[in-house]
Amino acid sequence: MPRIRQHNVLAAQWAPNGQVVGRTDLTEASADIFGENVFGTAEQRKRLPREVYQGLQRTIARGEPLDPAIADTVATAIKDWALEKGATHFTHWFQPLTGSTAEKHDSFYAPQPDGTALAEFSGKELIRGEPDASSFPTGGVRATFEARGYTAWDPTSPAFILENPNGAVLCIPTAFASWTGEALDHKIPLLRSMDALSRAALGALRLFGDHDSQRVFTTMGPEQEYFLIDEQYFYERPDLVLTGRTLFGAKPPKGHELDDHYFGSIPERILAYMLEVERELARLGVPIKTRHNEVAPNQYEVAPIFENSNVGSDHQQLSMQLMQSVARRYGLVCLLHEKPYAGVNGSGKHNNWSMGTDTGVNLLDPGDTPQDNQVFLFFCTAVIQAVNKHQGLLRASIATAGQDHRLGANEAPPAIMSVFLGGELERVFEALVKAKPDTTVDAVLALGTPVLPPLAKHGGDRNRTSPFAFTGNKFEFRALGSSMSPSLPNTVLNVIVAEAIDDLAGKLEQAIEGGKSLDEALPGVLAKSYRANAKILFAGDNYDEAWHTEADKRGLLNLRTTPDALPWLLEKQTLQVFSRYGVLNTRELESRYEVLLEQYITNVNIEAETAASIARTMLLPAAVRHLGTLKQAGILELVRETDGLVKSFFRAIKALEKVNAAAAHPHDDLMKHAIHMRDKVLPAMAGVREVADQLEGIVADDLWPLPKYEEMLFVK
Ligand code: ADP
Ligand code: MG
Repeated sequence: MPRIRQHNVLAAQWAPNGQVVGRTDLTEASADIFGENVFGTAEQRKRLPREVYQGLQRTIARGEPLDPAIADTVATAIKDWALEKGATHFTHWFQPLTGSTAEKHDSFYAPQPDGTALAEFSGKELIRGEPDASSFPTGGVRATFEARGYTAWDPTSPAFILENPNGAVLCIPTAFASWTGEALDHKIPLLRSMDALSRAALGALRLFGDHDSQRVFTTMGPEQEYFLIDEQYFYERPDLVLTGRTLFGAKPPKGHELDDHYFGSIPERILAYMLEVERELARLGVPIKTRHNEVAPNQYEVAPIFENSNVGSDHQQLSMQLMQSVARRYGLVCLLHEKPYAGVNGSGKHNNWSMGTDTGVNLLDPGDTPQDNQVFLFFCTAVIQAVNKHQGLLRASIATAGQDHRLGANEAPPAIMSVFLGGELERVFEALVKAKPDTTVDAVLALGTPVLPPLAKHGGDRNRTSPFAFTGNKFEFRALGSSMSPSLPNTVLNVIVAEAIDDLAGKLEQAIEGGKSLDEALPGVLAKSYRANAKILFAGDNYDEAWHTEADKRGLLNLRTTPDALPWLLEKQTLQVFSRYGVLNTRELESRYEVLLEQYITNVNIEAETAASIARTMLLPAAVRHLGTLKQAGILELVRETDGLVKSFFRAIKALEKVNAAAAHPHDDLMKHAIHMRDKVLPAMAGVREVADQLEGIVADDLWPLPKYEEMLFVK
């Protein structure tokens, strides 16, 4: 069936999906749906005996070990709650190294000898699962003969219920480990890193006279960018279906040059979708707070209120899952790939990160007088020191094939890690270094008319191009990819900051032991660290080519591609910091290196095979048919033009097939293989695409078999 414009008319039509979300009176207590599908604190208090509830809370709030004896009681309470909610099955919900989530469902019901069935779910089943999960990538941690992996209940992330039109499933957040206790997932290292940071931060806080805090939590609030596309176009494009991004597509006449989409009013169908996603997430206890249109056409953003890193990461995974499943109810597909469209801004995830005590103090809140806020200055300095020392590792923690299209492409922060502090803080630190008080008075923004209130001009003024920016009371790590699990980058942040905190606290302690007071010792320790790490600070335009030269002069790393970045997972200082804090041992780090590198190779290979097949079996025939029509019409000039392109298209396809043939791949060494994909296969794909996109511009529209950018991006 040739593609005709009728497709667009169909795609542009939408009706509310039949089971309209509807309106409720939100002033009625019973209409509050937040967390109704979560076995959270309120439900726990209601259903658990007092001591059990308190024990569980101590684990959640302070990281204290959980008494396994209470598992049976908790299991029964969860089961009763889940059955009341209509759940027939339960699953341990975990995060293997693939970066997505995994589940294996078991029925609550067991048949009885008398022919009836009884709902069963004991503490044993709550605490431990043994999915025969031998097919998950492990990077060599497990051999297949010892393939058994265990899932272990994470009591600090509440169980929840996922609904389906035909039933419901109780999901229990779990960790996933090998039988030797090595982490096969992203949750275990994250939890370990949170413990490490808490210990380090508490130690430092004691020096500052804080004896009340019992636990310091790292917090995260991810801003998630995504594209929506009509599902009709999606399923017409094998590249989107198989790889998540378009491997072909000429630049449309209109892109985002008009800047008319960013923060624009949200189309009705899209808003209807967002409202339903947010409602579903609210029922799951995910506190979504903001939404808006992003820069590119059909690109949007959603962000929750921050939570502790573990719950925040689980909620982020859940959000991505629901954004995708709810989209289908609106005839849409949600694209989470970092670069679905070439030449159009890609999607990232801004990871807002901070540290907070259980007494409610945000350690990165500068307050009104940052120059006098010792605790803030101390922790802020630690972050700067950590990012400078471990810039390569941070870059490695966000490296994927999808990211390589985005980082540094004048739309996302570059692959060079740097820290933006903002004018006000920079002045505070400069004053600290010079040991002279800062006398600048903060300006007020006059808006030029008395009817508008004057606004205080914030020193933490935004620099949107920085990969790691201080934004008021937190740091924003902006280089994450939209499709990524945020766990690894947060694990890295936690562990490297823990190390810097311990280092600075150690120096402070030494000075105090040497007879100085805290007030005397602190400025010197902080100024020294600030000076030593100032090369990581950059306040200018990170997209500017000049920054690359400047960064090079400063000796900052510029790890452009995934194969450049991943070896930092195995650098000596990485192994050291991870083993010192017991977050990942060498074998566990090696396994992550291998899995990530393998994923890179596999993803590029799938893309290359998809590109070759689309080119040969869809685009080339269309071009040849078009050529036939031109020949029939006898218009020689047109024949010549098309004939030339068809020939070079075929050459480009053959070149791609050659470098991506199995025999051409160096299979003996993973890194060599990855470099082959990067240096040979990706350029050959680009070669095919270049001609294909030219052909798209001349082949008759009804013959071109793929939806075009202007359709996918602008028909809403
Ligand atoms: P912007 O687009 O200006 O960066 P948003 O309001 O879209 O801001 O997102 C800010 C994000 O930062 C939210 O997810 C918010 O919850 C999060 N955030 C705020 N305070 C903290 C904190 N202390 N720790 C972690 N994240 C935080
Ligand atoms: Mg932001």
